[in-house]
Parts: sequence; structure tokens; C-alpha cells
Amino acid sequence: MMSRRDWVLAAGSLPAAAAAAAPKDIVIASSNGERACARAMEILKAGGDTLTAVIEGVTINEQDPDDTSVGYGGLPNEEGIVELDASVMHGPTRRCGAVASLRGIKTPSQIARLVMEQTDHIMLVGDGALRFALAQGFRDENLLTEKARLAWLVWKQSLRDGAGHSNWTDGLDAPVSRPGSSLRNQFPSVDEKTLTWALEVAVRPPTGTINCLALNVKGEMSGVTTTSGLAWKIPGRVGDSPIIGAGLYVDQDVGAAGSTGRGEENIRVAGAHTVVENMRRGMTPRDSCMDCLKRIARNFGDDRKRLARFDINFYALRKDGAYASAALWNGAIRDGKLARRQFVVNDGPASRLEDCAYLLERR
Ligand code: ASP
Repeated sequence: MMSRRDWVLAAGSLPAAAAAAAPKDIVIASSNGERACARAMEILKAGGDTLTAVIEGVTINEQDPDDTSVGYGGLPNEEGIVELDASVMHGPTRRCGAVASLRGIKTPSQIARLVMEQTDHIMLVGDGALRFALAQGFRDENLLTEKARLAWLVWKQSLRDGAGHSNWTDGLDAPVSRPGSSLRNQFPSVDEKTLTWALEVAVRPPTGTINCLALNVKGEMSGVTTTSGLAWKIPGRVGDSPIIGAGLYVDQDVGAAGSTGRGEENIRVAGAHTVVENMRRGMTPRDSCMDCLKRIARNFGDDRKRLARFDINFYALRKDGAYASAALWNGAIRDGKLARRQFVVNDGPASRLEDCAYLLERR
């Protein structure tokens, strides 16, 4: 005779209690998603479509020049060109779309949606994606803000050969840098705070992305992930964000999942798909994310030293509104203090930050 667990697996659906729960309006996102979740919730409350809600939400980040990890103002590739990746999934129609290495367009999530809606394909990349966006009426714009250009120049100037030589400073014909003052001399008009930030991102190339997942009262679900990817990447490098099943996955029968952080490690475990399949088999959203992190740790033989070189987060929203986020590390050390990993939840009144579960502890 089939056990209840076998029956659940065979039915390919949620545990009975979760399946029976009344759906509600709820949006979750990575920690940079407070405004995105608030906007998405407005749309859900007005009865709007879940995909429209999350895309309108993340468009705020994509158009914000101060968000240096998404859309306009994102940190560029090694040649100083901003290349964007995004994916979308619409639960009710079970369709999806994606763009990768897209240049010149501020809002890649909107282009990913058009790929889903207007073509017989799922993913467009590079020049083809740009030409598609132009054909859809979008404008080709310079996405490199002055702040991002400064950071890129600082990164270039930080590169040295084995003998410590750089093409910029301290050579026979180059300006001499004095300790602690070279950047200030080279960028006299830039304020101290921006210079400190530029130096930090030059030394530790950041990742950064927004993932946003939504459920509405009708039980419909959608998700989006959009990013400028890894700073100073090799041109053409594509991370996990636009890969359906890695940076994003939605199954209307089960739930939605997404990821931010080092994309290479996520692609290797097909993260978002793994999280959703874990939920399908009855794991909680939290355990589903933790299992995925364990697979990543396993790929490094659980070696904490190597794992300490990156971070990665998963976000999960189940069809009954249960949700969680889990990070590889409990937080990052900033100015000698631990900044905990958090994510954003909005289930009505306002966006709030909640702590992520985590696999490993930095002290
Ligand atoms: N996952 C993104 C990528 O690897 C970056 C990030 O989320 O920080 O491109």
C-alpha cells in the first residue's frame, strides 16, 4: 500500500495542509527589495497580475543609479561596459523568459518578459537581446554612471603585475603615489565616502542582485531575478540570474524560489529548481533552502576556508504563503562588526526585514 509520503510524491503536489491553506497576498525579496516589495504589494492589492507586480517592483532598482548591482548604475565588466542579466517566470501560464549580457537597456526584466510574451524562445543574449529590445521600442542608453565609472577606473588602477608594476602609477613615466594619498590625487573632485567605497569594490569585486517572488489571494505565483552580475567580469560572463532553474524557478503547483550571491556556485546545483523540488517533496521552505546550501558546501568538500570566499542566498515562497531565506554565512564582517544576512517580506502593511537562516557562522 502507498504511504502518505509516497502518495504526496506520486501526486507531485504539496503536503495536504499546505495545499489546503488559503492563499494570501505576499511578496518576498533579497535585502535590497524594500521598495520593490512595497510596489509589488500595491499592485497585488489592486488585483494586478503577480508577474506585473514583481517586475514593476524590481524596475525601481533597475532604474536607480545608486543601486550598483542592478540595471542602470550597475558595476561594469572589465572593459567598463555594463552587461545585465534577468529572468522572469509566470506561474499561471507556466511560461518564462530571460536575457543575458544585455547592454544599453536599463530594465532587463521588462525585456525578459517580452521574450516570454512575444517570441517562441525563452532566452536571448548579447547583441540579439539588444536588437530585440530596440525592436520593441526601448532606447539604447549609456548605463555607466559616473560613480560606476570611477569604481571601474579604481579597479583598473589596482591591477599590478608580479613585480608590483601598474600601468598607471609609480612607473618611470607615471605619477608617484604616496601611501594613502594616491587615489585622492588621482580623483581630486571625488568625495571621501565614494573613494572609500570604490576602493572596497575594487579589492573585493561585489555581486548583488534583486530576486522578488509573489503570491496573490488567487494562489497565483510569479518571480523575477535581475542583476548587473559580478563586477569586473569577463565580457560575456553570465551568472545564475537569467538561468531558469538556477537564479529563478516557479512551479504554480508548489512555489517559487530565487537566489542572489555567487552565481557560479548556484548554477552547479541548479539552485532555485532544487529548492522548489525540495518543497514539492514536503520540506519546509527553510529546509529546502538549507539543503541547497549543503549541496554547495559539499561541492567544496565542506572546506570552510574556500567557502569563506563567497556568499550565496536562497529565497523560497511556498504556494500556501510559507516563506524563508537562507544564506551560506550568517553575515558579513563590516567595520569589525557582523552585519547579519536579511531579506525582505511584505504581506500587507509594509516591507520589513527578517533574518535569514544560515548554514555557517562567521564570528
Ligand atoms: N547571482 C549574481 C551573479 O552571479 C550576482 C549576485 O546575486 O550577487 O551574477
